[in-house]
Amino acid sequence: MVFGIAGAGGRGPAQAKVKPGAQDVLIVVDVQNGFVPGGSLAVTEGDVIIPLVNDLARRFANVVMTQDWHTSGHISFASAHPGHAAFETLALPYGQQTLWPDHCVQGTESAALHKDLSIPHAQLILRKGYHPDVDSYSAFLEADGKTCTGLEGYLKVRGIGGVYVCGLATDFCVAWTALDARKLGFRAAVIEDACRGIDTQGSLAAAWERMKQAGVKRLQSSDIG
Ligand SMILES: [Zn+2]
Repeated sequence: MVFGIAGAGGRGPAQAKVKPGAQDVLIVVDVQNGFVPGGSLAVTEGDVIIPLVNDLARRFANVVMTQDWHTSGHISFASAHPGHAAFETLALPYGQQTLWPDHCVQGTESAALHKDLSIPHAQLILRKGYHPDVDSYSAFLEADGKTCTGLEGYLKVRGIGGVYVCGLATDFCVAWTALDARKLGFRAAVIEDACRGIDTQGSLAAAWERMKQAGVKRLQSSDIG
């Protein structure tokens, strides 16, 4: 198992595939109607990854899925801030917040997991972003950087130390989840081809740089055995 070894490079035809074990989890982030083409916060090609995500999930005994799950009028919505538009950045009490079109309101079609997602053995569906006044990109910590979703405890009491992340969107919920995983002491990898990004104001390249600095491995689905 070479997964935990830090540093880039060394990838080549001779490298063994990563074999997920009982102490690893795949986190499938926000594969919801609101984030695929046709949704209010559509990620380009967000639906293209779904067959790959389903296939990838079969290689993991442990799978957690997340669901963005906002109150109506949520603080992350541009509509909650008169005079501001979607994709602007606004300083809020807990930090800088990108404003979004209304999306994934609790109980709506937008918030539902995509119908083609087929991961019957997923053990937990974690909802996040349900506090009206704080956003939560990360599956571990809300955007104030301190309010816990409970996922850290859930994984640690189960003895899980390796976190693999895929889903939507690479530069927001996927990246923040992987970065928090590192911060909380997990090994972490993002499976790039099983993700798609939003890429607003250079956010995709910036996210990959932050993940590299934090020791998040950048893998492809073909690296997973
Ligand atoms: Zn959201």
